[in-house]
Amino acid sequence: MATKFLLTLAICRLIVTVGLTLDPAELLRLEVEGQLSLEPADIGSASRDFGGMRSAEPLAVLHPASADDVARLVKSAYESAHGFGVSARGHGHSINGQAMTRNGMVIQMSRRGSRKPAAPRVSEKLMYVDVWGGELWIDVLRSTLEYGLAPKSWTDYLYLSVGGTLSNAGISGQAFNHGPQISNVYELDVVTGKGEVLTCSKEENPELYHAVLGGLGQFGIITRARIALERAPTRVKWIRVLYSNFSAFTQDQEYLISLHGHKHKFDYVEGFVIVDEGLINNWRSSFFSPRNPVKISSLNADGGVLYCLEITKNYQESNADTIDQEVEALLKKLNFIPASEFTTELPYVDFLDRVHKAELKLRSKNLWDVPHPWLNLFVPKSKIADFDKGVFKGILGNNTSGPILIYPMNKNKWDEKSSVVTPDEDVFYLVALLRSALDNGDETQGLDYLSNQNRQILRFCEETGINVKQYLPHYTTQQEWKHHFGDKWSLFSRRKLEFDPRRILATGQRIFTPSL
Ligand code: FAD
Repeated sequence: MATKFLLTLAICRLIVTVGLTLDPAELLRLEVEGQLSLEPADIGSASRDFGGMRSAEPLAVLHPASADDVARLVKSAYESAHGFGVSARGHGHSINGQAMTRNGMVIQMSRRGSRKPAAPRVSEKLMYVDVWGGELWIDVLRSTLEYGLAPKSWTDYLYLSVGGTLSNAGISGQAFNHGPQISNVYELDVVTGKGEVLTCSKEENPELYHAVLGGLGQFGIITRARIALERAPTRVKWIRVLYSNFSAFTQDQEYLISLHGHKHKFDYVEGFVIVDEGLINNWRSSFFSPRNPVKISSLNADGGVLYCLEITKNYQESNADTIDQEVEALLKKLNFIPASEFTTELPYVDFLDRVHKAELKLRSKNLWDVPHPWLNLFVPKSKIADFDKGVFKGILGNNTSGPILIYPMNKNKWDEKSSVVTPDEDVFYLVALLRSALDNGDETQGLDYLSNQNRQILRFCEETGINVKQYLPHYTTQQEWKHHFGDKWSLFSRRKLEFDPRRILATGQRIFTPSL
């Protein structure tokens, strides 16, 4: 009763605030178990994201307690005479306002407050976990580890929501073997743009299932995901080796990912580019001893650029004695700079949660909440050497302003039926320029400079025929989106018409104009 009173009060305030943009009668009829908030703190956080470059205020924020709450809100938006945008927000870790909606409603999917959506439920027998769409991956991990199990495919950072990463792809160094996270989902519950709650999988409502995976939030809001699990290793051997020669580096990466499915392989293959200041000291490299920094000049870097291959081998305590031999045998096949091997061992959880440590460090220096003009590209294998020459050894100069990841993946681990688009080659690379803009008087570290460099990189790719696809894409015109999706555009827009005919969902992606 009290909740209903508060809700009515909130909606009255909403109507006063927004005039008649929303249909008040519809909203007044909206009964939710969770909380509809007009609190400035909620509105404020829903109008920001990790990118820190854009802001759009919603009218109100819903903290749902269940899929039914989500469905009620979406249905009222869909059926309302005026209509309004509805955006699910995971953890707000987008870069370009993708989870925002101006003058609409944001559904804050994380579990919070006294009435929370269901906690993760593990099936040990069938090796899966059912999780709420707003669950953070770190919490998914914690709950599955209670059963000695863990998801197979990860992102580098775990404070991201399940619904948020599944709307993109969800990739890390395991993707070459297990595919992205969207290849490791058995079933979903989705609230479509008409407010229906549908269960979907490869067998049931397959069109919706494939649309939603990598679907940029365009077809429905994921309220439950059934995620594949494996037996969790307890320990990880984490190895980094250096290269000065780019083709030796990529040949080794490609060899290692060709071992997918084999028994004797690494479990994670990534890498990064080092062009900074002569010392290996970027924030993902704390691995190298700060007391004994590696001097790039001492390693004969080609054009001042070094490449670091990063690999891991998982193991159980019980087979610790055989792991060294296995790693040795794999390393013998590689052509890195002799004596450039750095190895450490740690618990599996600490490895998976490694970026959080960097986050805490950056937060302590006030360097986390700064603008992040990140650019993530899928680059076809046939053009990665051109990309190296033009971008790493060209456009970037000698100051990167953040980590640059580079690692290959096997296309056959990606389901062509999903909404995500990747280059048309068997192997493609992720190149992630994860840069932070600083306002410290050095123009080359500023937001304008870095954003301009991103544009230069995209232009360079276009002019030299490197057919990249943006990952976590950002465009401002439908023409650009059509180009991004290429052959998949007609399917993508047909699915939109079917599942979100008023185009009210995830308007912050700026793909379709809502019909309000
Ligand atoms: P949000 O930013 O809140 O939302 C992203 C989009 O998904 C929005 O359009 C939103 O409307 C939609 N959405 C959110 N929840 C749902 C839902 N339940 N149903 C339907 N649509 C929904 N990505 C990788 O793949 N690999 C990485 O290693 C990786 N590392 C990262 C590290 C950091 C520090 C950061 C900031 C991001 C990283 N990302 C990585 C990117 C991340 O996957 C995206 O930001 C993604 O959007 C997840 O963030 P989120 O959960 O906060 O989603």
